[in-house]
Amino acid sequence: MKTKNLSLKIVIALILGIAIGSIFNIFAGSAFVENVDKYLFNVIGQIFLNLIFMLVVPVVFVSIVLGVVGVGDPKLLGGIGLKTITFFLTTTAIAITIGLTLAMLLQPGAGKSELLNSDDVSSYQQTLNKENSAQDSAAKQTFDQTLINLFPKNPLQAMTEENMLQIITFAIFIGVGIIMVGSKAQMVHKILEQTNEVLMYIVTMIMNVFAPIGTFGLVAHAFTGAGFGAIQQLGMYFFIVLLALVIHFFVVYGSAVKLLGRTSPLKFYKEFIPAITLGFSASSSTATLPVSLECTKKMGVRREIASFVQPLGATINMDGTAIMQGVATIFIAQISGVTLSFAQIITVVVIAVVASIGTAGVPGVGLIMLAMVLNAVGLDPAAIGIILGIDRLLDMTRTSVNITGDAACALIISRAEERKLAAKNE
Ligand code: ASP
Repeated sequence: MKTKNLSLKIVIALILGIAIGSIFNIFAGSAFVENVDKYLFNVIGQIFLNLIFMLVVPVVFVSIVLGVVGVGDPKLLGGIGLKTITFFLTTTAIAITIGLTLAMLLQPGAGKSELLNSDDVSSYQQTLNKENSAQDSAAKQTFDQTLINLFPKNPLQAMTEENMLQIITFAIFIGVGIIMVGSKAQMVHKILEQTNEVLMYIVTMIMNVFAPIGTFGLVAHAFTGAGFGAIQQLGMYFFIVLLALVIHFFVVYGSAVKLLGRTSPLKFYKEFIPAITLGFSASSSTATLPVSLECTKKMGVRREIASFVQPLGATINMDGTAIMQGVATIFIAQISGVTLSFAQIITVVVIAVVASIGTAGVPGVGLIMLAMVLNAVGLDPAAIGIILGIDRLLDMTRTSVNITGDAACALIISRAEERKLAAKNE
């Protein structure tokens, strides 16, 4: 992947997609627009997405096994794991604090109580009422169940269901097994290394050949459907989420990369553009994984660290999602005429951190998990219906933030390990 050329092509495709999609949105309903959207934009976008998705499970599995074997020492792996989780939790808490603070200062819901009477609220209530709805089960996943579900009964089922946490657990066991068995498992190790080479070649090829056109299709389709029109009424809410995302993306990650990773943030962002744009067009942290792993490889992040940190991050670290959940909670409290107490604000922080961990890295799940946060402070989850219409555009942006946080973490831990190694060798 020649990052510079490819990034430029993808960014141009993205801008074209936004422009053409937004124009098409104005003429929504015309047969021409509907046909082009359905048979062209959506088809090329989905083919591109499927091609990338096709690689997610094998890439995650193989790269984690190799990562564990590369670290070579289960104890060291534990140390890296602890640092990773600490980074994830801290940045997510910072993210939600930025979102909450901006929303409390700028009051996006002030004087907008009429929104509660809209049809969107009653129709979302119906969705919530549906027994066994995906919403229900996702938001009501209890702590004990979450813990039990980390361990797959059937690893093949975990793979077919794309259950990332279970795949990670299984891969860690296989990796530890290969270390312990040693020379007798040399062949398995070799095969996985060669498989990894092949998978990475396919990622690069798909990106080089399809990324610009695929990105165009995905973004044009999303904007034809959503457009900017829906944003007007909820402009302030939209703007605050976006502002918080931008602050977190540049200020928090930028300074973490500079101060903790001792790397130029500009270089970091530049190398990561293909992943950022794919995150934006696909709205899925999981789908972006093969490409974001390839980008951090180019930055010189140690393989064994990236391949462990990034898949875990794509599954549990969602700073952008936490920002949206914080702003949305304050927004809904304001339109409902409720002032949250300090204790309730702390509850929002804690629950949003948990909810973003539980959010799967696929489109739209962050909004579903918002129900959990609203329930915790006694707000009506049906109010989610109000922001549903504009969520797609925010989902695209927050997904880019989500994956950048994972890459920043991988880079920082990798650089710290390198410094440790260098000090040892002196
Ligand atoms: N789409 C987001 C992601 O994949 C999750 C969400 O906030 O809905 O990271």
